Amino acid sequence: MTFQSISIFRDKCLLNGKWCDSKEKMPVYNPSSQKVIAQVPSMGASETKQAIRDATQAFSTWKQTSPMHRAKLLSEWHRLILDAKSSLAYIMSVEQGKPLAEASAEIDYAASYVLWFAEEAMRVQGEVLSSANPHQRLIVTRSPVGVCAAITPWNFPAAMITRKVAPALASGCTMLVKPAQQTPLTALALGELATQAGFPAGVLQIITGEAKDIGEEMTSNPQVRKLSFTGSTKIGSLLMSQCAHDVKKISLELGGNAPFIVFNNSDVSVAVEELMKAKFRNAGQTCISPNRVYVQSGVKDAFTQSLIKAITELKLGDGLEPETTIGPLIDEAAVQKVIHHIENAKALGASVLCGGNRPLADGNWFEPTLLDNVPPNALCVVEETFGPVVPLVTFDSEQEVIHLANDTPFGLAAYLFSSDIHQVERITNEIDSGMIGINTGVISAANAPFGGVKASGLGREGAHTGIEEYLEMKYQCYGFKA
Ligand code: NAP
Repeated sequence: MTFQSISIFRDKCLLNGKWCDSKEKMPVYNPSSQKVIAQVPSMGASETKQAIRDATQAFSTWKQTSPMHRAKLLSEWHRLILDAKSSLAYIMSVEQGKPLAEASAEIDYAASYVLWFAEEAMRVQGEVLSSANPHQRLIVTRSPVGVCAAITPWNFPAAMITRKVAPALASGCTMLVKPAQQTPLTALALGELATQAGFPAGVLQIITGEAKDIGEEMTSNPQVRKLSFTGSTKIGSLLMSQCAHDVKKISLELGGNAPFIVFNNSDVSVAVEELMKAKFRNAGQTCISPNRVYVQSGVKDAFTQSLIKAITELKLGDGLEPETTIGPLIDEAAVQKVIHHIENAKALGASVLCGGNRPLADGNWFEPTLLDNVPPNALCVVEETFGPVVPLVTFDSEQEVIHLANDTPFGLAAYLFSSDIHQVERITNEIDSGMIGINTGVISAANAPFGGVKASGLGREGAHTGIEEYLEMKYQCYGFKA
């Protein structure tokens, strides 16, 4: 397969129903080869302003459409995404680096949000409240927020878009998306499929270009009533401050620092299997990736030996190669961060049990790595590494591990392995995080609320609550004569 042979491949922006180009371009790289694979338009503030105008115009009619009509178009988009799965997975693997099987699984996951919110569109309901005054009737209706903007990251180039766009469109909002500069091609192909599904011009627009300029226009333009952002806590907090001046609604899915806790009474083989799935998916570049692994002293040796075996069986390579189970990191900065975290841990007394090297000097490759005896102040424990590194920390007591797990400004995901239901309940109650995997490492689903607490964000995506983020309540009080 090549981009030229893929009918849904697009390298222009989708603006008001047209594919638009610009003189200035941005290169897109393949993280495996580091070669330029496409050029996309580099648009800025003025194109963003026009797109917001067009989204406002489109909103005036889109909000009047019936939920059934919106559900029908979303269902068609869902069907087209699944029909194009192999093309979308190829585009994603080439621009993002993840193995083709993972890219294909992400397309299924991304599509599941579209189907979920197609159905949720028809379940948006109001309420009739009881009134203390017999001459009044109190009614609550829900209406779309208005024009929305989304800024998304490169690690899940499809799912991070559909879980914002689908609830927005389902509720009657229009949306302008700015994908990450590393992965615009998956986003643009999804835009082509949305066009084929029949969404009118201006309902979904996709703009590529200068993040700062586009972001400033999205956040300062009063016609935009909501921003949904997934990315780093640093940029999320900047955008939140930019949204403050006209009090825009905002949803933030930000960074994590997930603890993975293994108790003596757990099934060690299950804990290792689930850690492998949760940690090495996308080469560790996921926001809910276990970042620090706490193992109780009684199972430490068995857990470590089994983990070394599983890690050394991983096959690092180009995402398109069939035997690859772990791809490259997204760019040189990501490789440098991994190296810095490993060197820092070693300097503080940690030992490398496997991996620890960059196999080629000039690629974004890094070996899956296991570190032991990592102290609590090591950078790989304190910060999100966002790479294929597992730092092991040994603990003895429940109280000790609860303190260690919560000793972070983040609170996105946590994982807990224990066969004692009482212990599970105690730990689950004490851990500060938006999501907890208990005896499992796979927790994301369209029908579950995804999101974090503390510096990991605001709001939830997915579940029946996901559409609420795009709806405003309107309370109506009717007075009537007896
Ligand atoms: P990032 O640097 O914050 O970038 C995310 C998005 O923000 C990109 O589209 C980027 O555009 C844009 N951006 C950067 N600077 C901006 C600015 N000044 N104004 C407006 N937009 C701006 O994050 P990343 O490195 O791509 O992603 C990794 C982070 O995302 C990790 O911390 C991870 O945990 C988090 N994440 C969280 C979730 C979640 O659901 N909680 C999911 C996935 C990832 P450019 O690409 O054009 O620079």
